[in-house]
Amino acid sequence: MAKPKIIIAIDGYSSCGKSTVAKELAARLGYNYIDSGAMYRAITLYFLRNNVDFKDSAEILNALADIHLSFAFNEASNKSEIQLNDENVEHYIRDMIVAEKVSEVAAIKEVRAFATAQQKKLGKKRGIVMDGRDIGTTVFPDAELKIFMTASPEVRVKRRFQELYASNPNITLEEVKHNLEMRDYIDSNREESPLRQADDAVVLDNSNLTREEQLEKVIGWVEDRTAANAV
Ligand code: C5P
Repeated sequence: MAKPKIIIAIDGYSSCGKSTVAKELAARLGYNYIDSGAMYRAITLYFLRNNVDFKDSAEILNALADIHLSFAFNEASNKSEIQLNDENVEHYIRDMIVAEKVSEVAAIKEVRAFATAQQKKLGKKRGIVMDGRDIGTTVFPDAELKIFMTASPEVRVKRRFQELYASNPNITLEEVKHNLEMRDYIDSNREESPLRQADDAVVLDNSNLTREEQLEKVIGWVEDRTAANAV
């Protein structure tokens, strides 16, 4: 029996370790991994570079018409990296300046329509792992496997701090904590596709799980879903 390729949607709060699991899972399955947050971050970077007024719909639509997003696989990082108008901006979008504004930009209706349409297209051939905030609820409501990831706030802050500290030794734990709390609040309370657990999602709390333990669990779920869909 041929194993069909499925869509795997991974959602959750900021810095739950979604991208680590998603990336490794995609590599093991031979699927594409798409970091949907990188798309919102790249749009935010463009808005900041071009002084787009977040409150002006006409200006937003004009800016979106000039934005072309794509992904290019980088062998060194073993990841598909985001390209903004053919410029690799993977490094710039991780900056705190972008993190401070991304949730505000991601709450804009026009921005979500723009990003969601592209994400849906990327899933047309299935065989994809996509992580974000609304993947199981809005982008792929028909995904065969939906995972909602959680981790304790302390674990999330510590993880994010360690990641950012490598490139910015001036960053403080307090700054990181504030940014995560602010993004989670805006992401969960916005009008358009707020972050919430899909009714049919399975929960993965990874506060006390190693990477390998998380992968084992997730691979088990994938096997169940692909067996159920085998033709
Ligand atoms: O995943 P990451 O933390 O890089 O996402 C950055 C921001 O992009 C989130 O805080 C959220 O505001 C937005 N986002 C979203 N919907 C997604 C993915 C990310 O609103 N599917």
